[in-house]
Amino acid sequence: MSRSNSTPDARKIPLKDASPKGFSQTGQALYQKRDKVYARHITGIFQTLRWITVWATLGLYFILPWIQWSGRQAVLFDLPERKFYIFGLTFFPQDFLLLAGVLMISAFALFFFTVFAGRVWCGYACPQTVWTSAFMWVERIIEGDRNARIKLDKQPRNTAKTAKRSLKYTIWLLMSFITGFTFVGYFTPIRALGFDIAAFQLDVWGVFWLAFFTVMTFLNAGWLREQVCIYMCPYARFQSVMFDRDTLIVTYDAARGEARGKRKKAADPKALDLGDCVDCQLCVQVCPTGIDIRNGLQYECIGCAACIDACDSIMDQMNYPRGLIRYSTENRVEKQPAKILRPRLIGYGLVTLVLLAGFGWRLISRVPVELDVSRDRTALYRENFDGQIENVYTLHIQNKTQETHSYTLSFGGLNGATLDAPKNIRARAGEQVTITATVSATPESIPSPNIRVQLTLQALDDPAISVTQESRFLSPRR
Ligand code: SF4
Ligand code: SF4
Repeated sequence: MSRSNSTPDARKIPLKDASPKGFSQTGQALYQKRDKVYARHITGIFQTLRWITVWATLGLYFILPWIQWSGRQAVLFDLPERKFYIFGLTFFPQDFLLLAGVLMISAFALFFFTVFAGRVWCGYACPQTVWTSAFMWVERIIEGDRNARIKLDKQPRNTAKTAKRSLKYTIWLLMSFITGFTFVGYFTPIRALGFDIAAFQLDVWGVFWLAFFTVMTFLNAGWLREQVCIYMCPYARFQSVMFDRDTLIVTYDAARGEARGKRKKAADPKALDLGDCVDCQLCVQVCPTGIDIRNGLQYECIGCAACIDACDSIMDQMNYPRGLIRYSTENRVEKQPAKILRPRLIGYGLVTLVLLAGFGWRLISRVPVELDVSRDRTALYRENFDGQIENVYTLHIQNKTQETHSYTLSFGGLNGATLDAPKNIRARAGEQVTITATVSATPESIPSPNIRVQLTLQALDDPAISVTQESRFLSPRR
């Protein structure tokens, strides 16, 4: 039988994608059109708590860079100078371990709280939540609550609508600009930044970052809102693997609420074969991500508890007990034994505590001066005119405090050796100075050709500031 000599590609049966436009070959939509969420305003215990957190977070963010400490900005991440100032402390690139420690502590603390209390961070303190809440507050004041906004959206363009929209966007833009300005102010002195902007003297990078953060704030908090949480935030995707049946989540008590249905306030639900859910939809209307919590736990739920406050207000009106929607755990809702201390929770808690202790210890024991000693690379040793053996060292000294200090150098490890170095080494706040030190000793006083020696730097005005570095003293073999 003769084989066809056609190429493999030529033998393939051509396929034609018959999927409807916008759908992949698996039939899944490639793009889901957004249903705009018109979250309704609600008050209640948890919303009060949320607003306290929101205003506290905003206040801290906006005030912190304006606080002065020892004549400079208290919190400043000076990237060009490679120095981070946090109140009385100055951190240098050598302190990278501390920064890594802060990140690790934050990550494990977040894991701990997620296992324990679900998405409490997302619902109360995440910047996306905080800024979106502030933007929605402005929107509600200008355009009204849910129904008024729906009505306004449906209206054809008219003067009143244009005026409201323009005012809203102007205030949003102003809020975004102040947010961007403050953010840049954490990396460059904020007062000077303010003067530069006022005098139109901001450099290109300053303009770029200011514009970038202004635009990102406007888009994230004004337009994208819940879409950031649902589609863009990686934490939303992986947090569910940290949940277990004892994690605190916002839950609808289906056993109590179903069968849902409308009824008169005076009606007996049992007689109507109904549960406590009156199917008012208020829990759906207040949800900032537009979900129905009665469908069970969903990854879109940010744990903001707006639906709890909404449902509690309905329960109060109906004279039913509160808590049809509540913070609870799967085990508790299903009346299974609940367990607070679980291995995962204990593990994350212990790691967080160990990291915190290590961080605290490192911070307390941190010597605010850096000493780096390197031996002269051109000669291992040399013999001077008096017949003594000399070793030369180069010392890099960095003052890591926010004040000027004077230091003195001493030498140890070789009896009878003399040290030739500046008597008073002065370094301004954050300054790095380099000096040369020469150690000489008579050949008879040197016990071996390679001995371990110590160079100690001591602040003259503060006995607590002292650092010792080891090096080697080399001499010819005899
Ligand atoms: S379901 Fe409830 S807790 Fe979850 S995001 Fe919506 S309103 Fe907030
Ligand atoms: S707010 Fe409560 S009563 Fe109303 S629909 Fe939601 S769960 Fe049912």
